[in-house]
Amino acid sequence: MALFCGFMSLPTPIQDLAGRALRNLRLSVTDRCNLRCHYCMPEHDYTWLPRQDRLSLEELTAITKALVPMGVRQVRLTGGEPLLRRGLDQLIAQLRAIPEMEDVALTTNGVLLVEQAEILKAAGLQRLTVSLDTLKAQRFEDSTRQDFLPRVLAGLMAASRNGFQPIKLNTVLLRGSNDDELESLLAFALESGFELRFIEYMDVGGAQNWRQDLVVSRDEILARVRKHFGEPEPVATPDYVPARRWQLPQGGTFGIVASTTAPFCGTCNRARITADGRFFTCLYGTEGMDLRNLVRQEGGARNVVQAIEGRWRDRNDRGAEERLGQDDRGAFQGVEDLKKNPHWEMHTKGG
Ligand code: SAM
Ligand code: SF4
Ligand code: SF4
Repeated sequence: MALFCGFMSLPTPIQDLAGRALRNLRLSVTDRCNLRCHYCMPEHDYTWLPRQDRLSLEELTAITKALVPMGVRQVRLTGGEPLLRRGLDQLIAQLRAIPEMEDVALTTNGVLLVEQAEILKAAGLQRLTVSLDTLKAQRFEDSTRQDFLPRVLAGLMAASRNGFQPIKLNTVLLRGSNDDELESLLAFALESGFELRFIEYMDVGGAQNWRQDLVVSRDEILARVRKHFGEPEPVATPDYVPARRWQLPQGGTFGIVASTTAPFCGTCNRARITADGRFFTCLYGTEGMDLRNLVRQEGGARNVVQAIEGRWRDRNDRGAEERLGQDDRGAFQGVEDLKKNPHWEMHTKGG
């Protein structure tokens, strides 16, 4: 494997056709998961990425380093379930050692946090987001096929004990499934000192059961918060951050990611890389670029720099905005297409 450390000087950050900078990288470290959330992995069979295609920790780091001269300053580790990846702490330490990297974050379902919170903190992980859609044990089991709610709650406590602050919670509300817990989930977050972000249900690859009427919109969430907690005051946030945030009268903040009803493609500064090195410039993208072969060829990461620079400069993606304008909107891709193209799955591309 040829890795490359010195880069030609590039104007930073590079910009795409809409003037959007490349700043944020979602690095998917595995496509495997220990849950089967009904809105993400509802099927019983999946086509998995071959194990031998997986990038090594050193290759993941080398590719991330290659993106730094182009503008990347934040990296979020995701999956699949990132805590299933062996050596994740070493990867975190390698990413933290990149001098220009300002933020190394992780999104997890929390199932393995009890065992790993301490080691993740020691490795230098800066920010932690845990997905939590219900506080009801039976509902958790029904909607993920695993009886792991107690583990997730214990994992959150372990993360707090180990000094992660703030801890964010991601909650996807689905009408008729868990929307009756909107108020109790937010109350739990406020009492526990976590910042909850409601994420609108998205019709991304793998969300086979998506229907517009199941989406609980930002407007609806705000109306219910207002009724139960009082008038929320908007908190100023940079426009490239997906979540809008509000402060509650009794103190505490929460956020909403309105990806479905009010997409924010116009300010999107995120790229994604799958565990086997496919580079995507949009969550709805279907044309991934293979970086694995590039990083393994003579020239190493220098090849990656050239390829990504060209791809980002040509970028014109507005996936969620384009979906917004579609009549008869349903699942983005069919099950058979996803089996043939596993890179299109949310759990492969990284949420
Ligand atoms: N397994 C980890 C987890 O669940 O936190 C990380 C990967 S997961 C794909 C990242 C985030 O995407 C999670 O917060 C999850 O709730 C969210 N997500 C998955 N499918 C979604 C969908 N169809 N709509 C909205 N959010 C979704
Ligand atoms: Fe659930 Fe995350 Fe696994 Fe998807 S990748 S099934 S959201 S835990
Ligand atoms: Fe960015 Fe694509 Fe999401 Fe729009 S749909 S915000 S372009 S990743």
